[in-house]
Amino acid sequence: MPYAYDTSNIFARILRGEIPNKTVLETAHTLAFHDIAPKAPAHVLVIPKGPYVTYDHFCAEASDAEIVDFARACAQVCEMLGLSAADGGKGSRAITNAGEHGVQEVPHFHLHILGGRVIGRMIENA
Ligand code: 5GP
Repeated sequence: MPYAYDTSNIFARILRGEIPNKTVLETAHTLAFHDIAPKAPAHVLVIPKGPYVTYDHFCAEASDAEIVDFARACAQVCEMLGLSAADGGKGSRAITNAGEHGVQEVPHFHLHILGGRVIGRMIENA
């Protein structure tokens, strides 16, 4: 079954400029902005501008240009937030939730980049 993208989701509305956001970085194919309810001192969401529902959808169907742009934007966000270990930062956690079992709230693919404190174990009940 093909992925069904809901154009009324909140991140689609942000991309259309209908809802404000605190932009960290915008590139040709990618937008990064602060999470409205941060779970860490640094909590940025990185999203592709294209209509992809989940990480696997993006990886399967996005163009090479979109994928490269997204990956480079993630690196740039880590650097801008001072999280990049390569620049003396203390690191970060990147998370993406997908679907029901991943407990995804917004059905537009997004990568959470969290940092500024020790984030804790990857999965608490593991
Ligand atoms: P998910 O559970 O889908 O992985 O994460 C969705 C994230 O989007 C949550 O961390 C939530 O705080 C964030 N979020 C939901 N609505 C908005 C919004 O209108 N603006 C911003 N900046 N973040 C939002």
